[in-house]
Amino acid sequence: MRLSNKIVLITGSGSGIGKSTALLFAKEGASVIVNDLQADRGEETVQEIRQAGGEAIFLQADVTKPEDVEKLVREALAHYGRIDVLFNNAGISGVGMLHEVEPEAWDKVMNVNIRGVYLPSKYVLPHMMEQRSGSIINMSSCIAEIGLARRASYAATKGAILSLTKSMQVDYAPYGIRVNALLPGTILTPFVENYLRTSYDDPEAAIASLKTRQLSGDLGRPDDVAQAALFLASDDAKFMMGSPLYIDGGVVFGKNA
Ligand code: NAD
Repeated sequence: MRLSNKIVLITGSGSGIGKSTALLFAKEGASVIVNDLQADRGEETVQEIRQAGGEAIFLQADVTKPEDVEKLVREALAHYGRIDVLFNNAGISGVGMLHEVEPEAWDKVMNVNIRGVYLPSKYVLPHMMEQRSGSIINMSSCIAEIGLARRASYAATKGAILSLTKSMQVDYAPYGIRVNALLPGTILTPFVENYLRTSYDDPEAAIASLKTRQLSGDLGRPDDVAQAALFLASDDAKFMMGSPLYIDGGVVFGKNA
């Protein structure tokens, strides 16, 4: 039980990586505040945690809306009394070369992916500063480190999150708060399935080509990222501060051709 007595808030945990992480954290003894924009998905995560004997509640909020996020944090604190871990996981994809991206689509990706890290952190941090402890995990991506075709808006957000993580770490280290970033490679989730469906005529061929990009020869699974998040959330990572943690099948540092 690596998260006994910890209260964790995971944004976007109705699906994919966030959901896997919520299930794993609950199994490791945490009480999980499941957040998502989509209530049916979030409730499903909570049901699965409870069926497995874990503890969780669902709180709906749009991470781009200050009033939603302020209420989310207030209700979470009213229910559990503290928040030890904030996993800023919610995010959306953005596809296209820069000149193809319409301003509205650009703003939406910036909003969900960057404002969606800023707002939950803004409302949780004063509480963590008061308790003089906490772990914040920001969801970046290996795209923050390497150029990938037709992903301009998305890459810009994930690079920003990595910079933000380092800057936050410096400011909040004196309060006993750790801030780290996860940089996954391609992980097979509904997010990636949707991207493949909408971006390629032949999604199966696209998956085959994506697999060759990883040194592992396969795509990652949500649980691969959840295990890395577990490390950052736990006290085992007490000396990890402002760091990028890669879970990418070797995409960033390897070259297989
Ligand atoms: P997913 O689509 O399966 O899950 C994302 C969840 O976030 C969804 O349930 C969605 O409803 C929720 N969400 C979206 N907008 C929201 C909002 N405004 N407020 C609250 N919740 C909102 O995606 P995933 O693949 O699990 O991705 C999770 C995170 O991991 C994202 O930040 C993504 O950029 C990042 N990531 C994913 C991959 C990958 O290959 N899947 C790789 C690197 C990084």
